[in-house]
Amino acid sequence: MQNPYLLLTPGPLSTTNSVRQAMMRDWCTWDNEYNQIVQEIRNRLVKLATVQKELYTAVLMQGSGSFCVESTIGTVMPRDGGKLLVIANGAYGDRIVQMCEVLNIPHIVHAVDECESIHINDVEHFLKEDKEISHVIAVHCETTTGMLNPIEEICYIAKKYNKITIVDGMSSFGGIPMDLDELQIDFLISSANKCIQGVPGFGFVIAKKAELAKCKENARSLSLDLYDQYETMEKHQGKWRFTSPTHVVRAFYKALQELEAEGGINARFKRYSENQKCLVRGMKELGFTALLDEKYQSPIITSFLYPENTKFTFQQLYNSLKKHGFVIYPGKVSEVDTFRIGNIGEVYIEDIERLLDSIRQTI
Ligand SMILES: *Cc1c(COP(=O)(O)O)cnc(C)c1O
Repeated sequence: MQNPYLLLTPGPLSTTNSVRQAMMRDWCTWDNEYNQIVQEIRNRLVKLATVQKELYTAVLMQGSGSFCVESTIGTVMPRDGGKLLVIANGAYGDRIVQMCEVLNIPHIVHAVDECESIHINDVEHFLKEDKEISHVIAVHCETTTGMLNPIEEICYIAKKYNKITIVDGMSSFGGIPMDLDELQIDFLISSANKCIQGVPGFGFVIAKKAELAKCKENARSLSLDLYDQYETMEKHQGKWRFTSPTHVVRAFYKALQELEAEGGINARFKRYSENQKCLVRGMKELGFTALLDEKYQSPIITSFLYPENTKFTFQQLYNSLKKHGFVIYPGKVSEVDTFRIGNIGEVYIEDIERLLDSIRQTI
């Protein structure tokens, strides 16, 4: 079926016909065939994440990406002792702080301006000053702005002080090459409906086995117990504890095969990067300025400032583009008026060029 519009939103995003087609029948759960697919997905995720495959495992968890973040910090943080350093420069970092408050997890926040990058010396200062910190969490691509945070440096400094590292790689994993072992990431969280290009319904955590093994009976939630889910998936070879999103899992499996057929993460990274560069170049010609300095900009999503001295309104641009077959995203930055255009998903240079034409006709 033809979609009425292309989603230029960073998840849910535009998927291929074949990924959606995988959902067009009823699929059973609890049987061997299904469990084998789950195991295959877990193996493929680990393979995408690192060359040190035997050191890591992948656990799938029902719900949206935030459920997975909550599941991870709620399971990984010890019940007694331990303190989480949350590095936050956007809405997703702030959400982690909220989760810590709800779950009663001791934490300290390194809050950085949304448009600023994270400086490693500041992170080190926290680690030096507060000896109670046991874990560090940071967001890789802050989808709020499109900022790409320096997780390589953050994890390096965290490990220098022997901390456990957690990365919200929700909107980057699958679209930006990385090796978890090389980056010294103990837990990386992502979800089905971002750069792997599946549909929403579950997320996954790629975890260092040796660290996950220490998390038994830590969880503050039954359904979101990452350790228990892991144990069940291991013991029963791909079985989820509670009803799993079978259709979404099938679609995800298809999406993983298509990622491989495209040429893997490197090829996808190249396509996203070209989309993003083409977008910014074209928007600049139309008089729009990107919010972030180019050196901080991810290839995932771009924030643009409202143009000055015009009667520009986001709603008008949004409505008009939707009629032209594109859905864009409102801004999420607090200090300035912005809107966002994502370029992940089944989106190619030709689509970006058509989008730019439509914007040209609209403004
Ligand atoms: C999408 C996203 C999430 C998860 O959001 P959900 O709405 O729960 O899927 C978390 N962190 C980042 C950086 C994201 O881009």
